[in-house]
Amino acid sequence: MTEVIRSAEALREKVAGWKRAGALVGVVPTMGALHDGHLSLAREARKQSDRVIVTIFVNPMQFNNPEDLKKYPRDEAHDLALLEADGVDVLFAPGPEEVYPDGFASKVTVSGVSEPMEGAFRPGHFDGVATVVTKLFGMTQAGRAFFGEKDWQQVQVVQRLVRDLNIPTRIIPCPTIREDDGLAMSSRNVRLTAAERAVAPALHREMQAAAAAIRGGTAPDAALGAAREAILAAGFASVEYLDLRDAETLQTATSLDRPARLLAAAALGEVRLIDNIAV
Ligand code: AMP
Repeated sequence: MTEVIRSAEALREKVAGWKRAGALVGVVPTMGALHDGHLSLAREARKQSDRVIVTIFVNPMQFNNPEDLKKYPRDEAHDLALLEADGVDVLFAPGPEEVYPDGFASKVTVSGVSEPMEGAFRPGHFDGVATVVTKLFGMTQAGRAFFGEKDWQQVQVVQRLVRDLNIPTRIIPCPTIREDDGLAMSSRNVRLTAAERAVAPALHREMQAAAAAIRGGTAPDAALGAAREAILAAGFASVEYLDLRDAETLQTATSLDRPARLLAAAALGEVRLIDNIAV
């Protein structure tokens, strides 16, 4: 049975009981509309912890676009059934007033890694992420937290955050789960029309082609330029960024002497897709 908890106080009591019994608590923070990507994190949490909490909170503070917040898919009953099937102990699903009560006045900002790419195109996004993640770590008291590499920059931001603020939660990055055609699973994919869904895999496909070209010695600028054109030609409305970056610092990379990552965001109709791969 997955127990649904909505208040921070009830969660604290639950976790305190587990900890008295010596349990290691794992948490998987999500915004719901769960898919196999989320469930892979819950399964990894199950393997690496004694008790598993999945949180579902569509965090208004991390949405820079009110329309995106309004249209964000929500289906808690279906999500709960999936979590039950995976043996998750607690679904923590607080309302906005539980997370941001009257008088709430704090904000966590991580500089550096949060500034380019998502940070540049979604102003305030990572302040919202860093703030809510700090709160969720405080509320769940989890020893381990599981995040998807699908949101590579987010993983780097959260790693920086826990190091900088001495938060005793270990961050465990987990691989991106994809559809058979390569499209990274995302809660936003359900908003794609059938025609857009057919175009969507082009993002990952062209990123892989660019990564192969760069590994083969093509200058990154040339490979990225060609991929950008191919993504637009496939039917994407715009490419916000398509960057080769140091995998950890997220500084622009011009060579492959350190681990590098190719990261992209592109708009398809009204949906914004992101992806990243190792180079
Ligand atoms: P979200 O609900 O989109 O905020 O995502 C919650 C967590 O699930 C984040 O750590 C995401 O990186 C992770 N996640 C989302 N999509 C995927 C995916 N396709 N594969 C692996 N993890 C994912």
